[in-house]
Amino acid sequence: MGRPASQAADAAVCARCALQGPTCCSMEPGREEFCFPLSETEQARVRECLPDSGGFVLQDNSVAFVDGVCRLFPDEDALVRALFPPRKQHLRLAVDGQGACRLLGPAGCLLPREARPYYCRLFPFWVTGGEIMIFDAPGCLVRRESKTIPAALALLGMTRAQVLDLHGRLRLLWGLPPRPGMAAVKRGF
Ligand code: SF4
Repeated sequence: MGRPASQAADAAVCARCALQGPTCCSMEPGREEFCFPLSETEQARVRECLPDSGGFVLQDNSVAFVDGVCRLFPDEDALVRALFPPRKQHLRLAVDGQGACRLLGPAGCLLPREARPYYCRLFPFWVTGGEIMIFDAPGCLVRRESKTIPAALALLGMTRAQVLDLHGRLRLLWGLPPRPGMAAVKRGF
C-alpha cells in the first residue's frame, strides 16, 4: 500500500499507474497481516480529516508480520521485536474484500497528502543504512519506468532530502530511535 493515484499533489505517473490496474493502495487479499503498522499519531491525523472513515483495524503481531518489519530495519532486529511483541496487536489500515484500502476513493486517496501515513508518502522508496532504495514492487510504474533512484525521484517530483526526512519521521512514530543526523526531525512533527 502506498501512493494514491490522483491527488493534485501526486505525480502523474501514479495516475497512469492507476489506469493500468490496482495501485499500491491495494494489496492481495489474504496478505493483510503484512500491511505496514500505523502509529497512534498517524491514526489521529486520519481521524481529524475523516472522523467516520473506519479506516483502521487491529492486527496480531504474527511471526510473519514481525519478520517482515525486521527486514525493513535489518540491523535493528531486537528493537523491532521488542516494539511488536508476540500475542499483542498493532494498528493497520483496513481493506475491503478486494484488498483495497478503505481510505481509497474513486479518485484516489481520500486524505490530503500531509495526513497520509508516512509509509504511504514514502512508497516506493525506503531507506536502509542511510541510503535510499526502491522496493522491488513489480506492479509499481515508477519502478518499471526508472532505472535509477534519481530517475525515480524525478518521476515522482521528490527529493532525496524529502525521502530521508519522511523516513526519519516514520522511524520515530513507529518507536525507533532517530538515526544520527535526524535530531531535527524529532522537533518537526
Ligand atoms: S491511506 Fe491513502 S495513500 Fe495510504 S494506502 Fe490508503 S488510500 Fe493509499
